[in-house]
Amino acid sequence: MDAGRHPLIELVTNAEVVGCDGEPGDFRVRVRKNPRYVREDLCVACGLCVDPCPQVGGNEFDVGLKARKAIYRPFPQSVPSTYVVDPESCLNFLGFLTEKQRLRLGKVERLKRKKRPDYPPNLLVCGHCEDACDVKAIDFDMLSEDVERIRAVAAVLRSGDVLVADANTGWLTHEAARVVNAVRDVNVYIEQPCASYEECLSIRERTPLPFVLDESITDLGILLRAHNDRAMDAVNVKISKFGGLTRAAQVRDMCVSLGIAMTIEDSWGGDVTTAAIAHLAHSTPTELLFTATDFNSYVTVSTAEGAPQRVKGRMAAATEPGLGITPRMDVLGDPVLDVS
Ligand code: SF4
Ligand code: SF4
Repeated sequence: MDAGRHPLIELVTNAEVVGCDGEPGDFRVRVRKNPRYVREDLCVACGLCVDPCPQVGGNEFDVGLKARKAIYRPFPQSVPSTYVVDPESCLNFLGFLTEKQRLRLGKVERLKRKKRPDYPPNLLVCGHCEDACDVKAIDFDMLSEDVERIRAVAAVLRSGDVLVADANTGWLTHEAARVVNAVRDVNVYIEQPCASYEECLSIRERTPLPFVLDESITDLGILLRAHNDRAMDAVNVKISKFGGLTRAAQVRDMCVSLGIAMTIEDSWGGDVTTAAIAHLAHSTPTELLFTATDFNSYVTVSTAEGAPQRVKGRMAAATEPGLGITPRMDVLGDPVLDVS
């Protein structure tokens, strides 16, 4: 509780770490803040919303020994004291409806939208907690920060810019379903929303937005399966993900045969990696080259002379033999292996 009042501590609650880059002394942590569906500025922690809630689950704070409702306060001294809705058990989150209920709900939703085209995007099936809350603190239209960010970026794009929302496997399916539903009117590509291929496929089936797969596509076998399942519109061909340039070129050639657009890049890198990316991208038919990434603009140390540089959003591969670059051995240091 002291931390909650400390002037130099900013508490980020209902959040999770989704990535971490950097090195000791200079870490950058990516944090995703989830919506709590209860407004912190209005909730007075009276608890009146709890009793009418029909959904009961195990309380995480008591390791499941006690029950809690789908709207709850995590534990008595939680900071902030604001209640929170658990999307994993609340009836308003469609993922928890049976197929029959979902079909019925779809019917009702279509009818409601016919009468009222401005009907809010999230149709509510329950709402007992809302009825009990005198101060109207419960807000099921609260968007995740991911949705707000996608909309904010889309608003400042210029004509011809392409927007890709790359979750890097970071969403659970119920989160991804809500995001793609909330941005369905935005001109955006959705990239690898969830960890597994099957989860991504289930999101793909729920959205009309163009779809890119990355982490799930690790070899030719899964590429062919995904093409067969119509699981994506574009694939991210990362050189090291497939085991080097030769294998990445095989995957690229298969994508060309199948007519699949590609992002050509790598997991990370500097000048040497960017030179390899530029060559692979240059030898790919233009109409199937979705994007390519100049990773050397992401780092501050140059490891080779003659590496491609991005100019006005484009880069060109070197015309010299091989990768067309000269490694800076003074920067790279002594070789770890000599092959003769
Ligand atoms: S009834 Fe409203 S104000 Fe009271 S705890 Fe629930 S959400 Fe908060
Ligand atoms: S909408 Fe219904 S199920 Fe969801 S938290 Fe409120 S009362 Fe509980």
